[in-house]
Amino acid sequence: MSLESFVYPKPPSFAPLDPPPRLLCGPGPCNPHPRVLQALGATELGHLDPSFLKIMDETKELLKYVWQTKNEFTIPVSGTGTAAMEACVFNLLEPGEKFLVGCNGYFGERLGQIGERCAATVIRMEKPWGKVFSLEEIAEQLERHRPQVLALVHAETSTGACQPMQGIGDLCRKYNCLLLLDTVTSISGIPVYIDNWKVDAAYAGTQKCLSCPPGMAPLTFGPRALEKLKSRKSQVPSYYLDMSLVASYLLGENGGSKRSYHHTAPINMCYAVREALYIAAEEGLEKRWKRHRENAEVFWNGLKQLGLEPLVDKEHRLTSLTTVKIPQGVDGKEVISILLNEYNIEVGGGLGELAGKVWRVGLMGYNSRPDVVLTLLAAFENALR
Ligand code: PLP
Repeated sequence: MSLESFVYPKPPSFAPLDPPPRLLCGPGPCNPHPRVLQALGATELGHLDPSFLKIMDETKELLKYVWQTKNEFTIPVSGTGTAAMEACVFNLLEPGEKFLVGCNGYFGERLGQIGERCAATVIRMEKPWGKVFSLEEIAEQLERHRPQVLALVHAETSTGACQPMQGIGDLCRKYNCLLLLDTVTSISGIPVYIDNWKVDAAYAGTQKCLSCPPGMAPLTFGPRALEKLKSRKSQVPSYYLDMSLVASYLLGENGGSKRSYHHTAPINMCYAVREALYIAAEEGLEKRWKRHRENAEVFWNGLKQLGLEPLVDKEHRLTSLTTVKIPQGVDGKEVISILLNEYNIEVGGGLGELAGKVWRVGLMGYNSRPDVVLTLLAAFENALR
């Protein structure tokens, strides 16, 4: 056999790409806004083209608005939410440093696992899934462990609980600890005030309330996080996610006039993120938060009429994602399968501790609409018959 002979002589013979038209009401992704999908197909530019750099600069300004921060270090990281999560942990912690993590759901646990991978001493602050931490509990842990970084998940997608943020930033300053916040399922759907809450670093996802496909993940570092980055003694353990290197491209030197290549930016995803943020800004944050709340309320009322109940108390319940208790005697997987196969609707099952106990229903971004709520409730009613 010659070196040039084919080992795979015929190409695979699949049908052309034709994904079914799903209504995505699970924990994410949700359906992208049609304008965002259009933006994905806009003409390609080089990643150092001044026109593209302008798009990136505008993206940064839009992100600052949506997150309510004046942080200049506010960028979309290439990769999904987990990439930005790793970027925060890798850049802000050094081996042996103490990392206090709020573990009241799946994503807090993931933060802890990432901390272990960069040799930090991870301290898990535990709480039953679906519950949130009180200020007193956090103060007690900060006093006891004196960690370098505290990480919390603002909107726990695995449980549907929203962590109250009042006072936590001040506590972290008192104990000279950086505050890292996961805003993957909160950004643009529920109030997030990065600067007012004194959050030092945060990351998000695009595929939830921003109604953009997954593929880039917002990240912001405030002055205390940047100081930490500058004063590191060890190298960041990832080349791709080394924020000092990424910044030399995305933010540039000399006020942004000099940009150097680090990795090829996912150009079309950047267009999509810019358009998604632009749509959020056009609507206005307060209006958008209110829309999410109103549609969630209609959904919760409808659940009650179906005899269904959310897992999380109303006080701490997310409006972007509701965990619904699966009633005794109902096969939760069967309902998910009926919704998908008969109604083209995706809802999620439970993760971890909540597997088999809840459905996870997202009404995020473009999908937070009365027609979606009514369709979803009607489909649930039929699937439960
Ligand atoms: N954090 C939270 C709260 C999430 O909901 C998710 C994903 O659902 C992530 C982090 C990880 O994001 P991704 O799956 O985009 O990597």
